[in-house]
Parts: sequence; structure tokens; C-alpha cells
Amino acid sequence: MVNGRARRVLVAGGGIGGLAAALALERKGFQPVVFERAEELRDGGAGLHVWTNGVLALDHLGLADTVLEVAPAQQTAHFSTWRGETLAAWPVGDFVARYGRPTIAVERSVLHGALRDALTATPVRTGSRVVGFDQDRDGVTVHFADGGSERGDVLVGADGIHGAVRDGLLGTVPPRYTGYIAWRGRAPMEHPEIPRGTFNAMFGPGTRFTYYDVAPGLVHWMSVANGPAGGRDEPGVRDMLLERHHDWASPVADILAATPENWIIRGDVLGRRPDRRWGEGRVTLLGDAAHPITFNIGQGACQALEDALVLAEHLERDSGDPAAALRRYEAERRARTAPMQRIAWWIGRMGAVENRAAIRLREAFMRRNWNTRAFAAAEKDQVAYGTRWAHRPDRDRPTPRPTPRSTPRSNPRPNPRPNPTATPESILVPYPVPSPEPAAAQRKWSSAS
Ligand SMILES: Cc1cc2nc3c(=O)[nH]c(=O)nc-3n(C[C@H](O)[C@H](O)[C@H](O)COP(=O)(O)OP(=O)(O)OC[C@H]3O[C@@H](n4cnc5c(N)ncnc54)[C@H](O)[C@@H]3O)c2cc1C
Repeated sequence: MVNGRARRVLVAGGGIGGLAAALALERKGFQPVVFERAEELRDGGAGLHVWTNGVLALDHLGLADTVLEVAPAQQTAHFSTWRGETLAAWPVGDFVARYGRPTIAVERSVLHGALRDALTATPVRTGSRVVGFDQDRDGVTVHFADGGSERGDVLVGADGIHGAVRDGLLGTVPPRYTGYIAWRGRAPMEHPEIPRGTFNAMFGPGTRFTYYDVAPGLVHWMSVANGPAGGRDEPGVRDMLLERHHDWASPVADILAATPENWIIRGDVLGRRPDRRWGEGRVTLLGDAAHPITFNIGQGACQALEDALVLAEHLERDSGDPAAALRRYEAERRARTAPMQRIAWWIGRMGAVENRAAIRLREAFMRRNWNTRAFAAAEKDQVAYGTRWAHRPDRDRPTPRPTPRSTPRSNPRPNPRPNPTATPESILVPYPVPSPEPAAAQRKWSSAS
């Protein structure tokens, strides 16, 4: 602690949220240390849609260009029935003109690898499973499964939806099962019906299929179906999925057929209701530990990136009371993420309907509202927020840390209502056209290689 201000920040969890928090803090001159329970620091196996707000957060961390070397910029988000009839098509490619950065699709391993490699001064201790913490007036101590412990000024629980820090703060409450399971996979393929930069979501009876390219020659997909939690796949899962989707429009069968069976992973989809409290004293939560957002709006990782920046901003502004800074961070982020937890849950319910009449209603609803109200809401409520970082790149760090009284705030209060029609300076930055050759970042981090 320096003048009562936090300096050593303990981060539980080395996922996208934990690494982004460590990077944002490192860039502001803090001394974060990351504790990850896995023996190896990795996050592989699937793709992510990172909306422009998430890309603007990455830009602020100086990582957008690296990720954009491989991640296809999205032009259209296409929604259809399982028979292939279009329900809506969102022109997400227009975000570049409005916000300066595209929405992208990316392999998790690429995003995670970029965050990990950007850390220069942060120790990442793998094989460190957090089991609890205690705190006093002067600091917080985190305890590990092997009996060890570490002391710091602040503890950030970025240890995911089942997080131990969360349990220590709020008690152990199991997550809510959504009622559906996601099978995810990657197909090494090019296909004439999979144009670059197109996200596709197909809606069937109690079943969905999404696909998009995450790199040249690599398609990420997800099959979602209703069912009981806790199941396991037998060998032959690809055949089971081919059977499930046998009457779906092209190219679903081609994608499944091109997927190696051992590249398919299964997971029950879990969520939580928004919590009123994310912290106490010197301890707080971030990412899925704080606000799991089901995949239905593609914002979970984006919000973890935003959390990281906002947390670092509040701790930087702290003038001697880290706990108060954490409560301000939580209040700001809860207001942003709670509506997303709810809307994602609701869209998931809509996607899960099985009854024919309900499916007809869903289709009519989407035809009528998805291109207009739903797209406008996604842009205004989710994407436009990223403009708060459009002018303030945080990449040439560390920032000299202001002393409490002598230096004015280096960070003005964020604009609470970003203007979605604003034309940020960053639109003048030429947007790189991805090369058809695998870029260096792809070769380095791709879990497909
Ligand atoms: C099917 C699916 C599709 C998705 N699609 C998208 C998408 O398109 N776009 C998007 O933005 N988001 C998407 N998400 C959400 C996104 O994956 C998550 O919101 C994001 O990964 C959360 O990151 P995190 O770092 O908070 O948590 P996690 O990724 O869960 O990371 C937590 C880390 O903490 C570690 N850990 C856990 N317990 C401990 C402990 N006790 N001690 C130490 N370490 C611990 C874990 O090993 C892990 O490394 C999707 C999620 C799913 C399930």
C-alpha cells in the first residue's frame, strides 16, 4: 500500500477476465499477481464473438491490432430458421464507420494468448487453486489448496461462474441451469456458403445451430439442444449431431462432417440471476464470477474486458480507501451487466421453445422486430458503450500514479451516456484487411495448430 492506496492486487483466475484485469492494472502501475488453478495457463477449444465494445476495450489495452491480424471482422449477423429462411440480417460491418472498430470472431486461444503475452510485469502462478480468503483493515490474504497463502491490498475474484472467491463472499449457491446444452466444435474448412465475416444463427425446435469463421480456413460452430444437465457424450457424438441436424439447411451437415470428433466439446449452459452484491471490504468480483451472461448475446467475455478497464480506473482514482473504490466499480458495472444477464436469459428461453405454435410466434416476432428494435437495442445498449474508451488508448504505460492531493485526476468521469452516432477520432485509423495467410498470431496461439 502507498499512502493507503492499493498497490498489490491479487487476481484469482487466469481466464480472459483475470488476465485482462491484470493487464489493465499493470498498465496503470499496480502490481497484480494472477493465481490460476490449472497447471497450464490456457483457454482453448472454442470461438467467441467479440462485439465492437469488447474490441474497443482491447484497443484501449493496445491489443486490438494484434487480435485483428487473425480475427475476421464481421460484416453480417444472419438469423434464420433451420430450414434456411432468413429472419433478420444485422449489418454489423457498419460499426467500423460508427465506432472505429469492427465486431470480430476469434478463437478463444488467440484472445487469451494475446492477453497473456501482453503481461510483462505480472507473475502468473499456475497450479494455485484459491480456496478462501480473509481480510483485515490493512490488507487481504488469499489461501490456496496446498496450504499456502499470499497477502495483498485487494483481491479480485475472476475465477469464473463456480468461483471460490464468490463463494467466500456470497455463500455457495449453485448456478442456474438454463435447460440447454451446448456442443461446440471447429471445422477446418472453407465453404462457398460460409462467406468471411458472417455470423449465422439458425433456430429450430428446441435446437439451435450457430457458425462463423474464426480464422481463414477454420469455422467455429455450436449446436444447442434442450436436455437434462450433467450428461456425458459417448463416442459417436458427431453422428448424433449429424442425426439431430439431418434436415437442416446447408451448410450445417458439411460443417459437422468436416469436424474431427475430438474437437467437439459439450457443456451445460449455466447462468445466474444478477446479484445485488459483488464484494466486501477489499474483495471484489469480475467477469463470470460476478455476472455470468449466457452466450445468447455474445457479451460475457466482452463484459469481462470492460470490467477490467473500469476496475483499473476506479482503483487508479482511489485516494486512500480501496474498499470504497471497489464499491464504486461494482455499482457502475452492476448497472451495466444486470440487464444483459436478463436479456440473454430471455433470448435463451425464446431459442429453446419446442412447441410448433410457439415457434411460429418466435419467427413472426423475429421477422418483425429483429432487424429494427433488437438491432437498435444491441447497438445502443451494448456496443455504443465502448466509445468511452475510443479516445483514450491506455497502451503506452505505465501511467505515473498520481499522488492523492498534488495531482489532478488523470481520468475524467466516464460519459455515462455515450452517443451512438458520435464519430470517434479512431475511425481515421485505417482498418487492416486480414490476410488470407495465417497470421503470426494465429500460428502462435491457435488451438487448431
Ligand atoms: C457456449 C458459450 C459461448 C460463449 N460465447 C461467447 C461469445 O461469443 N462472446 C462473448 O463475449 N462471450 C461468450 N461466452 C462467455 C465467455 O466465455 C465468458 O463470459 C468468459 O470466458 C468469462 O471469462 P472469465 O475470465 O470471467 O471466466 P472463466 O473463463 O471461467 O475463467 C476463470 C478462470 O479461473 C480459473 N479458476 C477457477 N476456479 C479457480 C480457483 N479456485 N482458483 C484459481 N483459479 C480458478 C479457471 O481455471 C479459469 O482459468 C460464451 C460462453 C459459453 C459457455
